[in-house]
Amino acid sequence: MEMNSSNLWVFIETNEKGQAHNVGLELLNPGHSLSRAQGDEVVAIVIGQHTEAAVASAEAYGSDRIIIVEGEEYARYSTDAFAYAFHALITKYAPTSILIGATDLGRDLAPRLACRLKTGLTADCTELDFDEESGNIAWTRPAFGGNLMARILCPNHRPQIGTVRPAVFKKPEQDTSHKAEIVREEIHFSIENIRTKLIEEILDADNETIDLEGAEIIVSGGRGVGGPDGFKVIQQLADALGGTVGASRVAVDSGWISSAHQVGQTGKTVRPRIYIACGISGAIQHLAAMSSSDTIIAINTDPEAPIFKIADYGIVGDLFKVIPEFIALIDEQIL
Ligand code: FAD
Repeated sequence: MEMNSSNLWVFIETNEKGQAHNVGLELLNPGHSLSRAQGDEVVAIVIGQHTEAAVASAEAYGSDRIIIVEGEEYARYSTDAFAYAFHALITKYAPTSILIGATDLGRDLAPRLACRLKTGLTADCTELDFDEESGNIAWTRPAFGGNLMARILCPNHRPQIGTVRPAVFKKPEQDTSHKAEIVREEIHFSIENIRTKLIEEILDADNETIDLEGAEIIVSGGRGVGGPDGFKVIQQLADALGGTVGASRVAVDSGWISSAHQVGQTGKTVRPRIYIACGISGAIQHLAAMSSSDTIIAINTDPEAPIFKIADYGIVGDLFKVIPEFIALIDEQIL
């Protein structure tokens, strides 16, 4: 079939049950604005053994076209099989741009593709827009330890590829009546040629249960919490609000709480309805990953703490005094 060679592609990562990871659906959002800016369509790429669920989501979240590659060799992610199939698709259709989630999987797949295609990759983007003057995507990502944001263009090679962290963008509105054009491609990779074998899976109990990226309410603790015991107070407030506990890097590096809780440039990017920062100063590497939260509440003893510059509500005070009062008000249903 004829396909416009200037399409923008979004990779829809799936889990082992074949469901779409949120990040792929989120990327359909900038995918739409960027492809429209270039007069293109947004194409979702789904690779897996059973793809129905992910294809239904990609359709409902507004893909114009969905290209599907199915086979038992794609039952779980392997660099060999996925890079082979994705590369074969790119070679056939020559898309202009590709957006991939900056998950463990995406961080493995995207550089393989960029290398095989001899094109550029901007990893871990936190912002995307269209550079009208040059007609390229402008990829923004933290540089020099997060002290400045670099705006990167890929003018000489195609496709231009970027990975974007989960929760940077909101998913588009869902419309189950929306229909996409479905294209199926038969691309197979021999299972014997997959060089990595899964021998055993050891799950990090915390990583399994902590869903910071999907949390509606996050209560985070930093150095001001003072130690592992201080996190009990943070947990109590999170429990009272039905929220999830987050942490600054200092708290994680000090061993007070596991890294699954870390919010920030080297942790997770979050955009909950409510983010409560307790004893966190507001370093740029922390702010970069939580400043898109709908409402930010900061509790800090230092009135000059930078976190107050972005907070919607600031409480200058000792978190060990403020939080119990907070919880009492919640218990009395005053808050
Ligand atoms: P501090 O900056 O020490 O702030 C503690 C705050 O607690 C102070 O404002 C103080 O006034 C307040 N306080 C003290 N006692 C109390 C009390 N009893 N009640 C209320 N307030 C109190 N940081 C991250 O968070 N996430 C990251 O992913 C991350 N990645 C990084 C990557 C790089 C490359 C680099 C260089 C740094 C990174 N950092 C990250 C570290 C970051 O620069 C800061 O050092 C860190 O965020 C500070 O953590 P904090 O706010 O908990 O501690």
